[in-house]
Amino acid sequence: MHNKTIAELTAGLKAGDFSSVELTRHYLNRINSLDEQLNSFITIVPDLALQQAKQADEQRAAGQATIINGIPLAQKDIFCTKDIKTSCGSKMLDPFISPYNATTIEKFNHSGAVMLGKTNMDEFAMGSSNETSWYGPVKNPWSLDTVPGGSSGGSAASVAARLTPAATGTDTGGSIRQPASFCGITGLKPTYGRVSRYGMIAFASSLDQAGPMTRTAEDAAIMLNVMAGFDSRDSTSVDEAVPDYTADLNAAMEGLKIGLPKEYFAEGLDDSVAKVIEAAVKEYEKMGAVVSEISLPNSHLSVPTYYIIAPSECSSNLSRMDGVRFGHRCEEPKNLNDLYIRSRGEGFGAEVKRRILIGTYALSEGFYDAYYVKAQKTRRLISDDFNQAFKEVDVIMGPAAPSTAFNLGEFSDDPITMYLSDIYTIAVNLAGLPGMSIPAGFVNNMPVGLQLIGKHFSEAKLLNIAHQFQQQTDWHKKVPALFV
Ligand code: GLN
Repeated sequence: MHNKTIAELTAGLKAGDFSSVELTRHYLNRINSLDEQLNSFITIVPDLALQQAKQADEQRAAGQATIINGIPLAQKDIFCTKDIKTSCGSKMLDPFISPYNATTIEKFNHSGAVMLGKTNMDEFAMGSSNETSWYGPVKNPWSLDTVPGGSSGGSAASVAARLTPAATGTDTGGSIRQPASFCGITGLKPTYGRVSRYGMIAFASSLDQAGPMTRTAEDAAIMLNVMAGFDSRDSTSVDEAVPDYTADLNAAMEGLKIGLPKEYFAEGLDDSVAKVIEAAVKEYEKMGAVVSEISLPNSHLSVPTYYIIAPSECSSNLSRMDGVRFGHRCEEPKNLNDLYIRSRGEGFGAEVKRRILIGTYALSEGFYDAYYVKAQKTRRLISDDFNQAFKEVDVIMGPAAPSTAFNLGEFSDDPITMYLSDIYTIAVNLAGLPGMSIPAGFVNNMPVGLQLIGKHFSEAKLLNIAHQFQQQTDWHKKVPALFV
């Protein structure tokens, strides 16, 4: 059962081959017996899941089933879930029980989906390896000595290990695409504003975006159909019509114009990863696509730009965790200052503190123009590069990450090298564009992701391009040996 996609499971539910309760039990059993090896879940909610499954079965019996009805899913622990712990991977929020649901959670509830639990993640989504989580690192199902990527590492690992058919993730600088690449699954970061951020704990508000993490592009389309749409409770949500993302999956690739940025194939990219990406692009040529080289001349500025903007926004967003209103509070504070200092000092981990310090510094009087304003200007240059490129091509392709998954502990004391693992994903967030990572091959038994970048609101096109690749190849069907 667990090797089926959402589309196949829905067909099985429809045909009466199994019920949602049976399906949900099956996944809960897998989580119980296998997740000890991975640590991909922070919270499992078996009672709620079985109750939702029962309700979904009743809806189906009454002829009221929607496409995702009765399908078990995992939610990244960054989404507020009513009456259930929402930790964001942090000791700071370990005691936090949300009084309300994020819009994304509400939408899945209304569609009859089942929530299995909340997945592990880097603390406040800051990280590329899932090693900054207060709940301990997640392991990569393809090799338990390696990281799953981050920050949506728990979601990626649980989908790859078939502990859930699909999961949600969020991507501020690559946190859907890089773990999707490392774990051999399909991940889509939608256009900024496509999916509501309401109730999604904020890291860097001008970059954060939620999206689906699935095994196939078709499943990502099904998930996005639920997630996308305007939300008046999110002031940056865009009021743009939501198409049926499954409608055009079969459009032909004939004449598709693919651009390969020369900067993405330069120094820093692992040779064997480059070969996998080149072979994937050839596959598109066979389908009739036309490939040309393009240039994104300011892409070398994206990591430094991001590491001013994201920490600046996080230093502001995280100021609300003060020991008064949310989460962790120190024992016996002597006065208000002591309460702030010790609650925050005890509640936040090292990476989060580093970012708050950088951001507070960058925003402080006298440095604001030199850092924050300058970063906003380079952000515009990076964005203009893409606008220029999209005059010539329909889609940009390249690697999602410079290497396959690295070893646990390999870079945990080396923040700069860790930051560089997002070198190909970050610019997409700075420009607010949609991007995907799809399984494209293996190097030494470890998955490699092909990144697809599209114009604003071109998710349907990206899903079509990804789906066509998955009709020609079976990389997305490979299962990690320990989790068959
Ligand atoms: N790895 C990047 C960071 O640590 C991106 C994280 C993300 O997308 N949430 O900021």
